[in-house]
Parts: sequence; C-alpha cells; structure tokens
Amino acid sequence: MQAFIDKMRRRAGRYLDVRPVDIAPARGVFSLSFDDIPVTAWTEAGPILAEHGIKATYYVCGGLAGGSNMDLPQFETDHLLALHEAGHEVGCHTYEHVSTLTLSPGELDASLARNAAWVAERLDDHVMTTFAYPFGDAALGSKAVIDRRFLCGRGVRDGINSGSADRNLLQAIGLESRRLPGYDLQRMMADTAASKGWLIAYGHDVMDGPTPYGCTPDDLDRVIRLAKAADLDILPVGAGWERVAA
Ligand SMILES: [Zn+2]
Repeated sequence: MQAFIDKMRRRAGRYLDVRPVDIAPARGVFSLSFDDIPVTAWTEAGPILAEHGIKATYYVCGGLAGGSNMDLPQFETDHLLALHEAGHEVGCHTYEHVSTLTLSPGELDASLARNAAWVAERLDDHVMTTFAYPFGDAALGSKAVIDRRFLCGRGVRDGINSGSADRNLLQAIGLESRRLPGYDLQRMMADTAASKGWLIAYGHDVMDGPTPYGCTPDDLDRVIRLAKAADLDILPVGAGWERVAA
C-alpha cells in the first residue's frame, strides 16, 4: 500500500505545481552530472572529462562524505576540493540523501540549508545554484522549496528538455548500466540538436564492472564523443541553464 501511495505522490509532484520555462538555446546543449559522488565518479571520470576538455556537475550530499552508499565508497572532502578546483560545478543533492517523499517542505529546506553550510565551509563560500532530487523523487510541495533556492531542479525521468520544460523538475537520462542498453544515444543527441533542446545525463560510479546505477569509462567516453559529433554545446547544468532558459 505504501508503495502505491508513494507512486501517486511522485506522480502528483511530477504533474502539479509546474513552473514552465521555454528552452531556447541557439543550439542544442548537453550536460553531464554525477549524483552522490562515489569515489570513481571523480577518480575514473575526472581524467576522461579533462581529456575531452569539458566540465560536469557533481551533486553532493555533505552527509555522505567519507561514507558508503549502496556498498560503494563515497567521495572524501579532498575529492570535492579537487573537482571544484578543476572547474566542475558542485550542486546540491540534500544533506542526508533522503527522498523528498519522506520530508515536509520545512524539513527539506532545513536539509538544504545544512548542505549549503557544509559546502560553503569547505569550498570557500561556494553557493550551489542547481539541485538534483535524491532518487528523482519530487514530492508535492518540494518544488516550491527548490524554486526558492535554486535556478533549477533535475529529476530522473527520461527525456530531452525542449520546447517547454518544468524548471523545478528537468528530465534526464541515466548513464546507468541498467538503462543504457535501452537508449539510442546517437538518436537522442541528434534530436537534441534538431530541436535545440537540452539533454541532461546523470550517473553514479564509473568503473569496469559498474553497479546497475553506474557506467564504464568507455560508456562515458562514448556519450561525450556522441555529443560532440552532434555539435552540442557541453556545459555543466548551471551554465547550461544560463544558456537555455529564455
Ligand atoms: Zn542520489
């Protein structure tokens, strides 16, 4: 019963309380993001991003620093400092990595404030301007909280953001071994270019033998090559937003 109620609550969050934005960049945009930040999202992905000369967005939970999540070691503060220093965007993913379905709007706001303070203390007063929903769950009432604090929020529902999109629940594709076989990435890149849309991808671990939620280094390299071949601008989510939002 609880699963059914959560499903209905996710659906309500998705379709209600929409704040539309016209997506209208001069040409298509591709953004890469990594959630939670397993260590390999930096140690394995970082060199690939550098090789391609592109920047990504890392969605951080202060509460996961030095810990474990889904059996994978998570980033240490030094990793976060290094990726920030390298010019990648650090965005917000709540402090405790909890679904918004389990939080009141006030509790969500407190989690965001705690994460903002944690990050500011470690990254020289850095202010996070974009958000990713843990598990992609946007409870009704949560979008208004995100709207007050961030330029935009990203979910995990498949699709290209084009035409009109919900700024507080942008669509994204998963660089996840469980999802990748179902995508025609070359086609999605072409469609993003043709529609002058914004394709956002998210991933977790990056390693050979990835979890169902992660991908291999080759997968990451391929998606970047395809975005370049389609002549998309590759930007972190915050910079992408500035480019696409009319
Ligand atoms: Zn997450």
